[in-house]
Amino acid sequence: MTSLTNGDAGSLNKVPTIKFTKLFINGDFVDSLSGKTFETIDPRTGDVIARISEGDKEDIDIAVKAARHAFDNGPWPRLPGSERARILLKWAEIIEENAEELAALDAIDAGKLYHMCRNVEVPAAANTLRYYAGAADKIHGEVLKMSREFHAYTLLEPLGVVGHITPWNFPNTMFYIKVAPSLAAGCTMVLKPAEQTPLSALFSAHLAKLAGIPDGVINVVPGFGPTAGAALSSHMDVDKVSFTGSTQTGRVIMQAAAKSNLKQVSLELGGKSPLIIFDDADIDKATELALLGILYNKGEVCVASSRVFVQEGIYDEFEKKLVEKAKAWVVGDPFDPKVQQGPQVDKEQFEKVLSYIEHGKKEGATLLTGGKTVGNKGYFIEPTIFSNIREDMLIAQDEIFGPVMALKKFKTTEEAIKSANNTKYGLAAGIVTKNLDTANTVSRSIRAGTIWINCYFAFGDDVPFGGYKMSGFGKDHGLEALHKYLQVKSVVTPLYNSPWL
Ligand code: NAD
Repeated sequence: MTSLTNGDAGSLNKVPTIKFTKLFINGDFVDSLSGKTFETIDPRTGDVIARISEGDKEDIDIAVKAARHAFDNGPWPRLPGSERARILLKWAEIIEENAEELAALDAIDAGKLYHMCRNVEVPAAANTLRYYAGAADKIHGEVLKMSREFHAYTLLEPLGVVGHITPWNFPNTMFYIKVAPSLAAGCTMVLKPAEQTPLSALFSAHLAKLAGIPDGVINVVPGFGPTAGAALSSHMDVDKVSFTGSTQTGRVIMQAAAKSNLKQVSLELGGKSPLIIFDDADIDKATELALLGILYNKGEVCVASSRVFVQEGIYDEFEKKLVEKAKAWVVGDPFDPKVQQGPQVDKEQFEKVLSYIEHGKKEGATLLTGGKTVGNKGYFIEPTIFSNIREDMLIAQDEIFGPVMALKKFKTTEEAIKSANNTKYGLAAGIVTKNLDTANTVSRSIRAGTIWINCYFAFGDDVPFGGYKMSGFGKDHGLEALHKYLQVKSVVTPLYNSPWL
């Protein structure tokens, strides 16, 4: 990913018609039992895009019953893996046929760049289905020798009914990285999308039906965290909750799981990721990487490189070039192909980011550029860079989840490692150097789940992704994610007259 602009794709005319606004339960779009609805907002203007049926505890209960019935009595967990794969592959094709609409739904609902959704995120979602389709018929246990009297084998069985709870920053991506491996494993599920961005998940439920996913296997229930989300994570008939969101909510979900049926939990949580740039770096490339790291998706990225540490030999030149490029960054309508940064997702997030900027100023950091809003409507914020950071400052410790970088000079490798690890989070980190020894030492010394050397935001379906420390546990992507939705059964049987040990 080198450029956030694209002159060939994307257009201001891509604003989609909203077709699906109801809960998707047991293969049908239905009103919530209460009949209540909530607004989803266009962050470019603050205007209402659509009213969405609001799921609550009773709706979650019906959706879980549908998923339980589909698991206990339906075909999905019992299909040969190759048949599940065939349906997932068909779904991938259907995504590609509907890519413009899926991309536009995320762009309008979340303020994401349309051309990045259309050209990167939606094609990646189709490939995620393909990756797990390829794994669906390769799920098997082992034969274990045990002893002369007994032998054993293991079965990998689908875990059961899964509750997926997703955030608003990558609605399509999050939907498919949760749904694809759990479907390949043979699970059934209820997914609660973030209340800010329910549109693409509902559209994807429709696409799942077109692909031939049986009724009840996927249920999508939009609603709020403390009601619908809490009902899902405390439900006695849900076997696992797979959550992506804030560390604060992750804690509440673990408590709910512990207090209900001790369901399994996996948590992909927040981050405050460091990018360390050494003296031997190419300064132009390093400034581009640093800006991409914090400004992609307007900083609403769990792995955003919100703390940038630059070695003293190149610091001054780096800072000068970084600020020049940040000032030239194009903020505006995410449907415009020339734009590099859209609006923050909603008013709450917009105000939260602005209040962190005020904190930064009050705490004595130097505001090098940005800090203000853009335009007179919607939730746009300038790319913002602070220098002269102390590590105890709020803007150096808290996850801001906006286009705000904390920049700091360092002298030695040891100092950089110490600073990088000075956070409760451990999601990702970046290193820019031409020195292999430095890269190897630093990548092994940083306590984070993903390390990018001379790159950033490089994801792959086959590369496990997840946190260390308070960034959570359990991986998305890779075969690790498939195994998250399987459980191991050991079957032991006596052996009589075995000629072998
Ligand atoms: P959030 O925790 O507020 O909400 C995430 C989801 O949890 C939403 O669907 C919300 O409705 C639900 N939720 C809220 N309260 C709940 C409760 N009490 N019980 C059950 N569900 C509840 O997070 P957010 O503000 O939507 O997302 C931003 C956060 O997500 C950031 O911290 C970011 O780092 C994190 N995130 C992490 C990753 C990752 O892979 N590690 C990816 C994207 C976002």
